[in-house]
Amino acid sequence: MKVQMLPSSIDENGMASARQHLLSIVIDDCVAIDAGCLAMSCTDFQRSQIRDVILTHTHLDHIAGLPMFIDDLFASLTEPLRIHATGQMIEVLERDIFNWSVYPRFSELSNDYGPVIEYHQFEMGSEFRARHLNIRSVGVNHPVSACGYVVSDGSLSIAITGDTSETDEIWEICNGRSDLKAVFAECAFPDELDELASVSHHLTPHRLESEIAKLTDRDYPVYIINMKPMYRETVIAQIQKAGLREVETLAVGRVYEL
Ligand SMILES: [Zn+2]
Repeated sequence: MKVQMLPSSIDENGMASARQHLLSIVIDDCVAIDAGCLAMSCTDFQRSQIRDVILTHTHLDHIAGLPMFIDDLFASLTEPLRIHATGQMIEVLERDIFNWSVYPRFSELSNDYGPVIEYHQFEMGSEFRARHLNIRSVGVNHPVSACGYVVSDGSLSIAITGDTSETDEIWEICNGRSDLKAVFAECAFPDELDELASVSHHLTPHRLESEIAKLTDRDYPVYIINMKPMYRETVIAQIQKAGLREVETLAVGRVYEL
């Protein structure tokens, strides 16, 4: 399985930077988890292949690139782009984004081949398919309808928390998977912003340590995602100081072969 977190900012040389404002993780070049920077940073090949977008939740840093991705593909789509989301997420998208005021209501539009998007609504906790992948959705702890996912290609699985604070179910499911090869876990804020992490339902290195401790007999790495760019260096330093075994920062843009 190929996993790549797309970059969402540039450095002083105009190259991809590690500062991660927006989240999009592309699996096997054809399925996207979140669309924060999908339109802006995916490769041409990925743009030609990605027809399934799975949302963890509707916060802007996870959907900002979705309208532009559909816009980009509009005339060329020979099949609808499938947006996998809960009913509450779809309601937010239709009410607050695709409402003609912020952007066109693509669910009412077609090109020469037919509809350009299709909502694939799922119940929290259910499993569904996206291309060759089996996706298990898991409710997590965030102020809006929010999912983590366990993604399996039939030979191995990975888990992605999405945005969350303290939670249990996703860790319990991870503990029951013998084919799990990696966990991608959020850690948005440094320890000194614990109160902000608490009200916004995010993790800090200290809270992350307690969460990871719920993983029993772990023999796979935990990759950290979703660090607020302003606190990135501090969060990384605090995680390193905690000395957590096989916990590392997911490199932005790098293709991980699992
Ligand atoms: Zn969020």
